Amino acid sequence: MAEVKERSKERPMARSEQPRGLKAGSMADSIRKVGVVGAGQMGNGIAHVCALSGFEVLLNDIAADRIAAGLATINGNLARQVSRQRISEEQRQAAIKRITPAKSLDELADCDLVIEAATEQEDTKRKIFSALCPSLKPETIIGTNTSSISITRLAAATDRPERFIGIHFMNPVPLMELVEVIRGIATDDATFEATKHFIGKLGKQIAVAEDFPAFIVNRILLPMINEAIYTLYEGVGNVEAIDAAMRLGAHHPMGPLELADFIGLDTCLSVMQVLHEGLADSKYRPCPLLVKYVEAGWLGRKTQRGFYDYRGEKPVPTR
Ligand code: NAD
Repeated sequence: MAEVKERSKERPMARSEQPRGLKAGSMADSIRKVGVVGAGQMGNGIAHVCALSGFEVLLNDIAADRIAAGLATINGNLARQVSRQRISEEQRQAAIKRITPAKSLDELADCDLVIEAATEQEDTKRKIFSALCPSLKPETIIGTNTSSISITRLAAATDRPERFIGIHFMNPVPLMELVEVIRGIATDDATFEATKHFIGKLGKQIAVAEDFPAFIVNRILLPMINEAIYTLYEGVGNVEAIDAAMRLGAHHPMGPLELADFIGLDTCLSVMQVLHEGLADSKYRPCPLLVKYVEAGWLGRKTQRGFYDYRGEKPVPTR
């Protein structure tokens, strides 16, 4: 599992939007308890920032060991924030106390907001929503952290499309300032305002994106990563040369292949498939080498192998 590292602060987007002030007692202030479905690298990051901002958090995953691993990662990342004097020891302890593991979706029944951060597969997400909805309060908002899938289509798999919204955090969640907010066709104004207010309480900036494949950040970022993989596939450069070229030649904080490993190659492939299918343009075709790595189960840092092998002391390129 990727650990949170210090990275250069990125600027908020030009069209970023801060939450508008809402009257006390409005629906925006009614979010106190947050459910997070999926305790992988994004889910644990979302649980971390929510708990640190004072929200009660229930952390669910289909695999019990992923919840335990997620909690351990949160603990480690909070401890690092204490050692770097970003937060106090009291804040760390209070945040940890606010997170409760939830083995089943039924346990999220009294959450005011549930954020789905499970694997980037439409079927998986649809199944989660149909299992989740019957136990939720009618007013509960459902947010999805999907990187690319249509919010309108996912909303249709719920009993509350008007209270469904895209809340797309960036990785690593505790360090990145931006959250993209995406309304589906039916998302109502109250849900939109409450979501912006909630994100403001997390201390994050907002960029509002329209509901088109991969939204803003990944529409731009993932084709760049896919092109870097084609550059490797065609032998234009090796892994080290490609990453060094973009780090030193374009001042990217991470090379594109290193970044792909950090995101997860399965997630990168899913986003490219959504772009390719959703926009029907061959320029988005996923590189066959990316497909091969995913088929091998070499998914990047989370499986210890991707474009680099992370099993030794330092990462070694695999090509
Ligand atoms: P991950 O592989 O680290 O974690 C996914 C988790 O979902 C796993 O722990 C898995 O056990 C769990 N899961 C699978 N099916 C489930 C189910 N039915 N119920 C509950 N949990 C289930 O993946 P991730 O990188 O955390 O990505 C999660 C989501 O966040 C995806 O939609 C992804 O596109 C999105 N996202 C990823 C990044 C990134 O950089 N990795 C950035 C922004 C958004």
